Amino acid sequence: MLSVVPSPVVVRAPAKINLHLGVGDLRPDGYHELETVFQAVSLTDRVRLSPSDTRSITVTGPGGAADRALASVPLDGGNLAWKAVDAVRDHVGESHGEVSVDIAKGIPVAGGMAGGSADAAAVLVGLNRLWRLDLEREELATIAAGLGSDVPFSVQGGTALGTGRGESLTRVLSRGAFHWVIAVAAGELSTPEVYRELDTLRAAERAEPLRRAGAPDAVLTALAAGDPKRLAEALVNDLQPAALSMRPALRRTLRAGVEAGALAGIVSGSGPTCVFLCADDEHAVRVAAELSGAGVARAVRTATGPVAGARVVDDEKTG
Ligand code: ATP
Repeated sequence: MLSVVPSPVVVRAPAKINLHLGVGDLRPDGYHELETVFQAVSLTDRVRLSPSDTRSITVTGPGGAADRALASVPLDGGNLAWKAVDAVRDHVGESHGEVSVDIAKGIPVAGGMAGGSADAAAVLVGLNRLWRLDLEREELATIAAGLGSDVPFSVQGGTALGTGRGESLTRVLSRGAFHWVIAVAAGELSTPEVYRELDTLRAAERAEPLRRAGAPDAVLTALAAGDPKRLAEALVNDLQPAALSMRPALRRTLRAGVEAGALAGIVSGSGPTCVFLCADDEHAVRVAAELSGAGVARAVRTATGPVAGARVVDDEKTG
């Protein structure tokens, strides 16, 4: 019988923006209770999975070797994509051989946009195709939740309300496309450290408590109406004071985006990426040009959301 060598599978997986990020108190298990509204945006990582005798991971990105954050991404068991291969194998209970994982990063590393989670989601979706597993979306979501709080959303995409650690998802009605300018900061912020800083800030607050995001009703209403002005007024991130405390220069970035005409600016998740909501495509291009000139970011990009979650884009033919 002729044995067929499976073709590599290529998957694109999106970055996320938290339109509303309400952080509750620290739970006994060390996590914080979250109430968040995610939007998947058109800034993506491209992950290629090829059958191989041994496991390997490569990571490339627009900054090349000069990008210190990119160079710090582990290429072994510390990489979330590697853990995702193991998680799929454990779930199906049989070996389908090894894979080479080649990641082309479009999502800033340690930037608060769930880049590692996107790669893990890409591996889940990609191996499902490569190994012909026929896992249902719910099964993928279960494996995803075991890998990290943001991974289920990276698989699902679109717009969703996340509760628990952020892994418990409900789809949210969103009309039309929203237009973003993304200011990629130099360097990274560690998500656990930003949460610790928030705990410290909250512990220190006395007469004037830090504002808390509350319920996400205003964001949900603005999304359902497809209204960027209302959404701009409703954007809120409880982690922002902590990110700004650790990286005060981000205040200047946020100010520069608003001065460039954006409807609103916010730190993305745990930062240091800042995102700016614009009225439409042309507006976003104008704001991006002005922000680039202001010299407050390592790179400035435009993106739209919502977009789909991790998806196979191409079955490359070998020989
Ligand atoms: P989140 O918003 O989900 O908290 P983030 O976007 O801030 O995450 P990531 O880009 O996911 O951050 O990277 C966080 C850390 O994980 C970095 O220190 C990085 O070295 C490590 N990491 C492990 N695997 C990956 C991967 N595939 N891509 C990027 N970073 C990875």
